[in-house]
Amino acid sequence: MQMIKRHKTRVVRIGSLVLGNSHPIAVESMTNANVHEPDAIIRQIRELERAGCRLVRIALPDLASTEHIPFIRSRTRVPLMGDIHFDHRIALAAMDKGIDSLRLNPGNIRQKEKIAEVVRKVKEKKITVRIGANSGSVDRSRYRKNDSDALVKSALEHIRIFEQFQYRNLIVSLKSTDILTTIRAYKKFSRLRNYPLHIGITEAGTRFSGSIKSAAGLAILLYEGLGDTLRISLAGDPVHEVIAGYRLLKDMGLYKKSVEVIACPTCGRTGFDVERTADEIEQRTSPIRKDVTVAVMGCIVNGPGEAGEADIGVAGSGGRIILFKKGRVIRNIKRKEILAEILDFIEKQK
Ligand code: SF4
Repeated sequence: MQMIKRHKTRVVRIGSLVLGNSHPIAVESMTNANVHEPDAIIRQIRELERAGCRLVRIALPDLASTEHIPFIRSRTRVPLMGDIHFDHRIALAAMDKGIDSLRLNPGNIRQKEKIAEVVRKVKEKKITVRIGANSGSVDRSRYRKNDSDALVKSALEHIRIFEQFQYRNLIVSLKSTDILTTIRAYKKFSRLRNYPLHIGITEAGTRFSGSIKSAAGLAILLYEGLGDTLRISLAGDPVHEVIAGYRLLKDMGLYKKSVEVIACPTCGRTGFDVERTADEIEQRTSPIRKDVTVAVMGCIVNGPGEAGEADIGVAGSGGRIILFKKGRVIRNIKRKEILAEILDFIEKQK
């Protein structure tokens, strides 16, 4: 596969995560559990971590929500980004409570002294900030058209606030719900500044429509070498965003060594729950950096034969499920044993 040449950018750090330039493109997501139920948030972050999520964003809608940061931080490992709007006190409290990074638009804090207070603390704590311009946040009283120019100008306004303080640990995103507007905005911006880019299509949609819409837009950006971290925005379980993100990177040749899960389309011969089994395997194997192909086939008719090249696979067979390796039937296997058997096989591969 032809290699994509990545756009040159500055390099920023969020905890253990290094982003930008030639560093691997990170797949990120956002929790949607109730922020005032820290146990639920922690459970969700751990699921995201297990799926390979490298940066988790948490909405911090009020001051009380920042109180949970130390507890959440101490029980999870993945870098955390607080999502803050309007109230500068939330940003200050989040930094004091140990958040690793922030997503904010200083312009929507409005008063200069309050903005300065936030930027001073960001600088003191050396926190990386994502400036996230999106079509919903563009100031319509100033930009009549909600187009790519408005997105770029709006982002630049926010960026200049940090640049006035000689602070450049920034990531920038310019998302629209419209694919072409998003692509134009990122391309224009990348000619003006060299900050690492978080790429995504805002409010992309359901698991099905959102994945296609995001992939359509982000594939073009990635092909242009743009994007240092990405989110596939989907309604529902955020783990699906991570799986979709890795899938896209793998298909674009930007994630070296990966587990490929192939599944038959199912038909009247299907002998077990192919979709659920393939989903579970994909969920657990998406971040693993090993070249292994796993096949989940509904029946033995086309099972091991059609998927004979797969390193390991399962196929339905008259009320039973068989395990096969390189097209050779090994033994019968119970449905509940499949995931552990496959993970164990992958673990043993070099
Ligand atoms: S592998 Fe079997 S169950 Fe799956 S689509 Fe082909 S014939 Fe149908």
